[in-house]
Amino acid sequence: MLSEFDLIKQYFVRPTSGRATLGIGDDCALLTPSPGMQTAISSDMLVEGRHFFAGEDAQRLGHKSLAVNLSDLAAMGARPVAFTLALALPAAERAWLEGFSRGLFALADAHGCELIGGDTTKGPLNICITVFGEVAPGRALRRSAARPGDDIWVSGTLGDARLALAGYLGELTLPADAQAAAGTRMHTPTPRVALGVMLAERGLAHAAIDISDGLVGDLGHILEKSHAGATLNADALPAGPVLATQPLALRRAFTAAGGDDYEICFTAPAANREAILAAGAECGTPVTRIGRIEAKAGLRWTDADGAPLTLELSSFDHFTN
Ligand code: ADP
Ligand code: MG
Repeated sequence: MLSEFDLIKQYFVRPTSGRATLGIGDDCALLTPSPGMQTAISSDMLVEGRHFFAGEDAQRLGHKSLAVNLSDLAAMGARPVAFTLALALPAAERAWLEGFSRGLFALADAHGCELIGGDTTKGPLNICITVFGEVAPGRALRRSAARPGDDIWVSGTLGDARLALAGYLGELTLPADAQAAAGTRMHTPTPRVALGVMLAERGLAHAAIDISDGLVGDLGHILEKSHAGATLNADALPAGPVLATQPLALRRAFTAAGGDDYEICFTAPAANREAILAAGAECGTPVTRIGRIEAKAGLRWTDADGAPLTLELSSFDHFTN
């Protein structure tokens, strides 16, 4: 039987990357901020039965637990530095711990983000990560910074994670290969860190948010904090490759209000269009212009020709509840 300390030592203590002044092993870790930089901090908790199904693959869970946190840093334009991990586990199973730490550290290493501490306890499976990042003063992409006239952009594609969930829940039936492809988006999201950092460091974007609860809801937070409204082009929303093969009503519902996408929705002056497309190309993350911020409150829709469209959000309820 693994003791708590053996478990930490075997699966979570690694040679220091040098990012932290003092890592795992004392009462606190010590971080020395880069001169003049601000620290961006965010926590996200993943609870079994609520955020993932019981029996979920441990390696994918390790990846996703950190990915959703890195996505918050990306949406702020902050570079990842370090993270802590608070873990409640029903039992200390070696196979689970090996898989979980493999998925976790593969993503952590890809972003130069060091595990510097945490807490471990017995209990229903629950994973809480806190990330620390750095951003220059005045450069963070805040929700309150959208301005009328800004373009609205989204990274990557939307809706495949929600489509996968629909398949798992039996709301619809997908061919096995399509279910697997969409499932990859749901289980192993890609945090758009390089893009977020470029947008912030180059001063290209005003406001940003990562899409965890669905585009409409998350853009709504930007609109509320910025005291603004928006018009979105329903036909411009980039559907994931699997969702793109589905009927129009489903494409619209799941791109607009799917959730679990971990793409970045951001606003930027029209003068930055070329530079934003170049930044997207440079970091290998496609970016799509989907609408415009307006002074008038509320969210309005058009089709590709600019004709007003009534997208009854209530009609999404069937899919989003
Ligand atoms: P304390 O009793 O002071 O809370 P612990 O005995 O819980 O400390 O933890 C010992 C050390 O191991 C601390 O440095 C803590 O940050 C670290 N630690 C505990 N659990 C984890 C974990 N799941 N991942 C990384 N570090 C951990
Ligand atoms: Mg403790």
